[in-house]
Amino acid sequence: MKPRDGITKPNWYDTATVPGYGSPPPGETRADVCVVGAGIAGLTTAYLLAKVGQRVVVLDEGPIGSGQTGRTSAHLASAIDDRFVEIERMHGERGSRIAYASHAAAIDLIETIANGEHIACDFARLPAFLFSLPTDPPGLLEREAAAAHRAGFTDAQRFEKITLCGYETGPCIRFGNQGRFHPLKYLVGLAAAAERHGVKIYTGCRVKDVTGADPKKGELARATIDDGPQSVVADAIVVATNTPAPINDWMGIYIKQAAYRSYMIGLRVKRGLVDDALYWDTSDPYHYVRLEISGVSDTHDVLLVGGEDHKTGQLPTDAEPFEKLEQWTREKFPRVEDVVYRWSGQVQEPTDGLGYIGRAPTKGDNVFVITGDSGMGLTHGTLGARLVSDLIIGNPNEWESLYDPSRKPTHSIGEVVEFVHENLNVAAQYTDLLTGGDVSSEDEIAPGCGAIMRQGASKVAVYRDELGQVHKCSAFCTHLQAVVRWNDIEKTWDCPAHGSRFSPEGKPVMGPAIDELKPM
Ligand SMILES: Cc1cc2nc3c(=O)[nH]c(=O)nc-3n(C[C@H](O)[C@H](O)[C@H](O)COP(=O)(O)OP(=O)(O)OC[C@H]3O[C@@H](n4cnc5c(N)ncnc54)[C@H](O)[C@@H]3O)c2cc1C
Repeated sequence: MKPRDGITKPNWYDTATVPGYGSPPPGETRADVCVVGAGIAGLTTAYLLAKVGQRVVVLDEGPIGSGQTGRTSAHLASAIDDRFVEIERMHGERGSRIAYASHAAAIDLIETIANGEHIACDFARLPAFLFSLPTDPPGLLEREAAAAHRAGFTDAQRFEKITLCGYETGPCIRFGNQGRFHPLKYLVGLAAAAERHGVKIYTGCRVKDVTGADPKKGELARATIDDGPQSVVADAIVVATNTPAPINDWMGIYIKQAAYRSYMIGLRVKRGLVDDALYWDTSDPYHYVRLEISGVSDTHDVLLVGGEDHKTGQLPTDAEPFEKLEQWTREKFPRVEDVVYRWSGQVQEPTDGLGYIGRAPTKGDNVFVITGDSGMGLTHGTLGARLVSDLIIGNPNEWESLYDPSRKPTHSIGEVVEFVHENLNVAAQYTDLLTGGDVSSEDEIAPGCGAIMRQGASKVAVYRDELGQVHKCSAFCTHLQAVVRWNDIEKTWDCPAHGSRFSPEGKPVMGPAIDELKPM
């Protein structure tokens, strides 16, 4: 199976086989719960609900795992990536304790499911290390370790130096009891387990609309596939599409999170030269590193290194993300060999560091959402599945208010600055409406490339395919009309305002946009 989200291919696809699923039946299908999205959030939700007797239908436009779960680096962390100091500042000490406890519970749940359902997904418990930079303000690690302890993370210890990979390192915090796994092997096993509990999984079906209903009037919620007539009606719908495109309540969620591209490389390294652990640094954007041992070689592992994040559609002109990652890696891990994988993916960064999980703000009581994954989407998706399943079956869950998608800003200075900064950045993207195009003639566009051309008062997204044929569509994103930009790494049109993405021919690849770019 090929990944659907762009042309680059993560390592996971070389060591897992993703099965195909059928299309939904014609007409209307009835379920207790309809889950839209078969990534880790959607499939975990379906599995948990089916285990307590709910009739669940899962719908996905692509194969299972073909969203960001297939593009992850698969660190399983309860050490919050935005750091405990920040989470405590924005959500208070109690919020920080719940954030830690819920992410730790997510790792436990993944381990329990993997063991209980006999999913061979290379799950392992291991330590994680956060390294500081010489330019960090004094005391940064001490304050972070203290905040981690206040959050309940007692196995977090600061070291002035430590021996790792045969070298003495600089100052760091060691976080115990973190995890790693193979995300596609896990998802394939999880889908099979969900089916054994009665879940019906359908792929190749794009949900274009989700409507809520008033359960007091006996109404059902509806997920409409394409423009109909196929649909699923259910007592509850869970939108687990990573960016919640089919519930287009952008005032509720889109202005509170921002889409970022993140880059990964995989380098061969002789087995035993790098300790099996998770690694991060404090740079902004931060680097994240882990070892992938389940590879295809008896003598070598693959060192996965990620970072160089930037807002979607806003790749700096001087950026060479893969080259910069390789240079950084060779400085820090001099004994790595050749680069064997390069890929990118997308994360949704919430302005206050935590996901938006629970009742969808504008859709009534029976539509639920899991989004705002940040760099911790595997644990956010898993804890989100636990929380949403509890809400659906009426179990109390103390995580509810912390992750409430309708939560008001905390008004901490940090969050207000972040919120204003992100939304000023969005506004700035609309100046593209006034500028010229990237090229003045389609003859300037090489095969396999795209460029924006001005056409009178309008702008056109022009793509020349490998055979030389030219495809044209409107350059205005169908979400909120910003001008899309060509992403030459993944060969997609990316919207710099809210992160929607489209294929070279203008088909939607990733929300919030739900409709294709207008063909010309
Ligand atoms: C490079 C990179 C590294 C990362 N590293 C980590 C990490 O180390 N640890 C961590 O915890 N997280 C990490 N993340 C984040 C994490 O991988 C994701 O947040 C997580 O996998 C998201 O899971 P999900 O189920 O919410 O979404 P997805 O896996 O994206 O699943 C959503 C599904 O919904 C489907 N869909 C979308 N729209 C529709 C529609 N309209 N109709 C039907 N189906 C639809 C898609 O096809 C997709 O299958 C990383 C992400 C990236 C990109």
